Amino acid sequence: MNWHQIVWKSEKPMLITLKFWKGPGLKNVSFWISLLQFCFVFGQQKTIVIDPGHGGTDSGAVGINDILEKDVVLNVAKEITVLNKTLFDDRFAIYSTRYTDTLISLKDRGRLARALKTDVFVSLHCNYSDNPNARGVEVYVSNRKAKYSIEATWLAYNIQANLNRKLGFESRGVKFANFQVLRETVAHGPTVLVEMGFMTNTDEAGYYLKPKNIRAMALAILMGLYNYFNAGL
Ligand SMILES: [Zn+2]
Repeated sequence: MNWHQIVWKSEKPMLITLKFWKGPGLKNVSFWISLLQFCFVFGQQKTIVIDPGHGGTDSGAVGINDILEKDVVLNVAKEITVLNKTLFDDRFAIYSTRYTDTLISLKDRGRLARALKTDVFVSLHCNYSDNPNARGVEVYVSNRKAKYSIEATWLAYNIQANLNRKLGFESRGVKFANFQVLRETVAHGPTVLVEMGFMTNTDEAGYYLKPKNIRAMALAILMGLYNYFNAGL
């Protein structure tokens, strides 16, 4: 059993420690967060819309262990909101396109992002494949050239890097596609769609059975957002 420890430091007095052991497959993550003190520089609070995909009658992908994509993405979205409050001292103004198990149309998801003049829009999904060995994380950016294409690509790399380095998910790359939810938002701000692993892979579907892993995924995404904004693109 290999113990690993990651200490993530920002230039501010803050220390987040992730400890995990690496067994076969995905790393089992449990993390301790030592929060010494938060002292962010003053600045305009960034608005983030998190978009948990599917919902209601649309379950999304069904996991090999019967978990549903719509529940996984909603739980991660809820945890992002909680961690932003408890750990990031409400650093971001975070909205969700849905807070419950309801189906929102793709048009309305985009409409909300535009109405809020969001700084970034992050759609959360899980992947599905006929090949049970398919695994890893993909982050999608709209393939339409738009005002925020470069920022969206940079954001996608930041999120992907965090999920790979902090949690051990394989990187399948940043990809470009013509998904409706990306198409309808990319002209208004950086927009990405994260495929957080495969519901058809035993390790990755099993990963989401544990609340601490849901929390780790939420934290890694938040770190990706934090790094993106701090890079000052
Ligand atoms: Zn989906």
